[in-house]
Amino acid sequence: MRITDSQRRKVYSWETAYLPNPMDDKIFTDKLEIEQFVEQALRWFWHNPKPNSHSIPTVQIVKGTRKSASGGLWRIKLPDNNFGRSQITIIHEIAHAIEAGLRLHDHIDETGAHGAWFVGIEIELLKRFTKLPFRQIAKDAKSSKVKFIPRRQVKLLRKRIKDEGLHPNGKQKI
Ligand SMILES: [Zn+2]
Repeated sequence: MRITDSQRRKVYSWETAYLPNPMDDKIFTDKLEIEQFVEQALRWFWHNPKPNSHSIPTVQIVKGTRKSASGGLWRIKLPDNNFGRSQITIIHEIAHAIEAGLRLHDHIDETGAHGAWFVGIEIELLKRFTKLPFRQIAKDAKSSKVKFIPRRQVKLLRKRIKDEGLHPNGKQKI
């Protein structure tokens, strides 16, 4: 059954109101730099998955507007402009890739593409890879009525992934 993505609008409003404008934030210079960042973030989250793991999606740069950005287990698509090259945008799409991986392997309850797990992971990535103040981000998400999994739970899940070696690798069914 398809889960409705009921929180999408709230997430977009929160991001627009409280996160830095992607264009004013860190902009990567080229595709290679983006690929390296995607790999670094995914390896960090999954505690170094094996090579050829599908938990590291390929990066595709496409002609288009900000609406062309998307993230999934296998592929992150980014428009060929500063919006697509911004770290804030890429973190959002990486969070989609991770959430999809977690959902595929039943590590989490399904909460929708922009659901509570997605936002919890996005905030964790922002904390790890940007200088944005974590407490403020969480506070603003709360006041925007965006539901998100609290940090301690995201950390517990990552600990489980590490201790039990759980991560999607395309073959192993967990
Ligand atoms: Zn999204």
